[in-house]
Amino acid sequence: MAKFVVTPANETQREAWIGKTIPEVERVRPGLWSIPVPIPINPLRYVLVYALELPDGVAIIDAGWNTDEAYDALAAGLGVAGYAITDVKGILVTHIHPDHYGLAGRIREASGAWIALHPADARLVRDRYDDAAIDSLVERERALLVRCGVPAMTLDELAGASMMIRHMVSMAKPDRLVEDGDDLGLPGWDLRALWTPGHSPGHLCFVSPGRRLLFSGDHVLAKITPIVAVHPQSGPNPLADYLDSLAAVRKLDVEEVLPAHEYRFLELAERVDYVLAHHDERLAEIEQVVGARDGVACWDVATRLTWSRPWETIPPYMRRSANNETLAHLAWLEAKGRVRRVAGEPDLWFPAAG
Ligand SMILES: [Zn+2]
Ligand SMILES: [Zn+2]
Repeated sequence: MAKFVVTPANETQREAWIGKTIPEVERVRPGLWSIPVPIPINPLRYVLVYALELPDGVAIIDAGWNTDEAYDALAAGLGVAGYAITDVKGILVTHIHPDHYGLAGRIREASGAWIALHPADARLVRDRYDDAAIDSLVERERALLVRCGVPAMTLDELAGASMMIRHMVSMAKPDRLVEDGDDLGLPGWDLRALWTPGHSPGHLCFVSPGRRLLFSGDHVLAKITPIVAVHPQSGPNPLADYLDSLAAVRKLDVEEVLPAHEYRFLELAERVDYVLAHHDERLAEIEQVVGARDGVACWDVATRLTWSRPWETIPPYMRRSANNETLAHLAWLEAKGRVRRVAGEPDLWFPAAG
């Protein structure tokens, strides 16, 4: 597939990404700031928090991971813009992943800001409140992996990856639920929410039609494609949701995309087309692997696909994501009648005609 390379909106920011440094705090437009906030042990390295100036303070889009380093970086970034954490009036969260939502509670404590989320992600926060719910979540993940045919030995290794979930428990309840199409009502901003499920069930993008800007969260990024995976909280066919959400943002008339990672870029529609083609290619590859075998488990499909590095060198946590992403593609193909599933332990996948 021919590689499509987006045009960065700011070459220096792209160079920082490529050079593995942290980009500068930047005034993107009058009244709009981009503040990189570091995230720990993650190749994405930082989340881009956007600060929108209001008559009496700022609203921010996303917050960062809940660490002192992140809190200090956000405070310093707001300082460059002439504000303090106590000036934050509202926190618009694109989705509940810890690099976006983790710090929201602490900012609210310091500033009294409201936290806004889509109801579908707000529900997941509630699910993760008490230990019993988390244990059941880990159990459901384990059951899902068994049905994918993950070998017993690997299962224990992957179960350790579930500890990631525990980091999210301290997340705060949102104050505002934001639905698709809602106007956020920020003075001086024509900001509208766009529900874009897929990467997370309640993922939100924010669009300013007047300024022709799209705050895309993790939904559309310059280089990487977000993980779209089946997991206990994902719903049965998250890839269908994701592809529909891509089609929805493709229609927007915007001049610049402001994502939560990497760097800002132009050419939204072309980037969306490229991501759509990437998934088409992946779906065809998976259909072919299933077609060449007489009943194959999801895990065995995953090990046979082309990944960015050899399967043996992929660490357990990422193997689980790889497996769950493969399952998302299989579920999509099943819904379209291109493969069929025979339920069991594991579920086996067959060509549609077989
Ligand atoms: Zn995410
Ligand atoms: Zn993210």
